Amino acid sequence: MSENGLPLCRSLEDHVPLFRGNPGSCEELPGFLSFVRLSRYAAIETLSRKPTVRNAQRRQLASHGNAFPTVPRAILVRMDIKTRNIVTPAADAPTSQPASVPAPVVGRFAPSPSGRMHLGNVFSCLCSWLSARSQGGSIVLRIEDLDDRCKRPELAAQLIDDLAWLGLQWDEGPYYQHDRLDLYESALHQLQDAGLTYPCFCTRAELHAASAPHASDGTPIYRGACRGLSADEITRRSALRAPATRLRVPTVDDLASDVIEFVDRTYGAQCEALATECGDFLVRRSDGVFAYQLAVVVDDAAMGVTEIVRGCDLLGSTPRQIYLQHLLGLPTPHYAHIPLLMSPDGRRLSKRDRDLDLGELRTRFGTPEALLGWLAGQTGIAPDTTPRTAEQLVEHFSWDVIRAHRENITVTVE
Ligand code: GLU
Repeated sequence: MSENGLPLCRSLEDHVPLFRGNPGSCEELPGFLSFVRLSRYAAIETLSRKPTVRNAQRRQLASHGNAFPTVPRAILVRMDIKTRNIVTPAADAPTSQPASVPAPVVGRFAPSPSGRMHLGNVFSCLCSWLSARSQGGSIVLRIEDLDDRCKRPELAAQLIDDLAWLGLQWDEGPYYQHDRLDLYESALHQLQDAGLTYPCFCTRAELHAASAPHASDGTPIYRGACRGLSADEITRRSALRAPATRLRVPTVDDLASDVIEFVDRTYGAQCEALATECGDFLVRRSDGVFAYQLAVVVDDAAMGVTEIVRGCDLLGSTPRQIYLQHLLGLPTPHYAHIPLLMSPDGRRLSKRDRDLDLGELRTRFGTPEALLGWLAGQTGIAPDTTPRTAEQLVEHFSWDVIRAHRENITVTVE
């Protein structure tokens, strides 16, 4: 911790060696804080925050009582950008802690049905489930099928069957992102109405040809070629090519440039300067598909998700998501990223690794207890690989254990 009690901040870039398996030195920081420097870009917060969930969903979500919590989970403070000292509380920061019962924990499974689940997906769902259950919480199942390669109902059905076979029961859903396009559209309109977006005509080749450094998730940092196009130029180019939509982030020259800071339950304090480490990012692709960053933020808020557990390959997306939550006036959940599972030849497991997909694993292990017990032993959740049900693993699970094994984990199935 720094002198003034703020967590020492590690840039997301600092985590690259950590992802590659080098020992990290993240402090263990209990609890969660998100520091967002306020700027004129935060103006959209004053716009309407009416929940826009569909009626049927609203009925279901209402049972949580916290689909749109009024108490922000992120603490917003105004900071001096150079020293990162707190100088004044933000106008909308809570002045005192309300004496309230802690909100119920809501976790989620958010799989993309682009192939059969692999062991890494199982690990991610297992950790989400164990974390929520160990806190007496519930789980929402959301199928992330916006992309064309995920519009495969048979794969979604298989995924649901695999989760049920594993005994990882969910309490709400499944929701399908393809049914929720009007929600993303309305969030996009909020951003557009606030003047925060612009059409981008750059091709993929143009983006990659630019020698700009890459953001922590490998996407090129956008240099702003389409940022200042005139209305005439936009009309001219639109006749030739459908544009994507980008969200402006404050530039380094803006009076207040935004630095997003948050504490990840596994990897500790993180920060990202949006202007230099991220750049203007896509909220809608040129083929009309809403960007993952926008959809996930809208859905997590609408579904009352309080805790996001997912692979550390998505750690770099989190500042963008927190920024969007801030602009749209949505609460920020807790984040806990988990190590990736690697094959013995050093590759990250993916849906292409058919030998570790759930079809093969169900055959090899025979029972969910054998598979979950083995996975828990391999990843340090349990002391050994004794067959155990998900329920039996709850008593072994803690974030301390995950933190102690936060380097990527190589798995071999004999
Ligand atoms: N749908 C993403 C995946 O299957 C996960 C997104 C998230 O957890 O935010 O990798």
